[in-house]
Amino acid sequence: MLVEPKSMDECVYFTNRSLNEKGKIKCWVFKEKCVKCGKELMGKPRDPKTGKPRIRAKEYECPGCKYNVSEEEYENTLTASIQYTCQYCGNIGELQVPFKRKKVKIFNEDEMKGKTIESLRFQCGKCSKNLDVTRKMK
Ligand SMILES: [Zn+2]
Ligand SMILES: [Zn+2]
Repeated sequence: MLVEPKSMDECVYFTNRSLNEKGKIKCWVFKEKCVKCGKELMGKPRDPKTGKPRIRAKEYECPGCKYNVSEEEYENTLTASIQYTCQYCGNIGELQVPFKRKKVKIFNEDEMKGKTIESLRFQCGKCSKNLDVTRKMK
């Protein structure tokens, strides 16, 4: 069984969404400890004046030793936990995959055309079709 987060503060990423009438995906990624000192959870760097995390910063920082890595480098070392109901076969499953987004082609039904977007892709444990946790469009 996967461990579910108790609060958003524990996660670098959390989403709970529907894929279509029957499919849905819940996906979360826990923050992990600093690889340098191993004591503190990495987080977005804090503003020295307000003490609030700079959400939009493209980097993560250890609050203890100030070790700093780019967002991409840090996220690539993390593990995503996924609970899903397959949109094709209705299979309910859960799994863990490396939190590595890849560029994938997806057919957008609203716009009736193919699109390349970043996605965390995995396969249904039953029908083996691709399921995507796509990055939200801005
Ligand atoms: Zn550290
Ligand atoms: Zn399936």
